[in-house]
Amino acid sequence: MLNKTVMIIEDNILHMKLFNDILESQGYTTLRASDGETALELARTNSPDLILLDIQLPLISGFAVIKQLKSELGLKDIPVVAITAMDERMGGDRYLREGFDGYLSKPITVPNMLQTIAGFISPKPIMVH
Ligand code: MN
Repeated sequence: MLNKTVMIIEDNILHMKLFNDILESQGYTTLRASDGETALELARTNSPDLILLDIQLPLISGFAVIKQLKSELGLKDIPVVAITAMDERMGGDRYLREGFDGYLSKPITVPNMLQTIAGFISPKPIMVH
């Protein structure tokens, strides 16, 4: 896993603990924020490798957070995965249109979460000459 850092933005304490425990058990380093403003500050100072972003947050929503993340030069290349209690009628494409790189629908399974994250930040072999 090689010290990949995942930032979790989630206001539900139980979900936060669950996601954090899953990620740490796989060797990821985590950064945690429970609201969007704190998350943006943390992202600017720590440059995580990937961000898990809950849609329903206090103060500013996940949609406002993704808009800000994708508008900042230092942040826009970080993959962001939406954590959604998805309304299936809207379909997942909505999240991609809003700028998310992927999405996970609650209830989230461990394999699904890990597979999605690894799809964005799995360590690539380093070519040594
Ligand atoms: Mn929430």
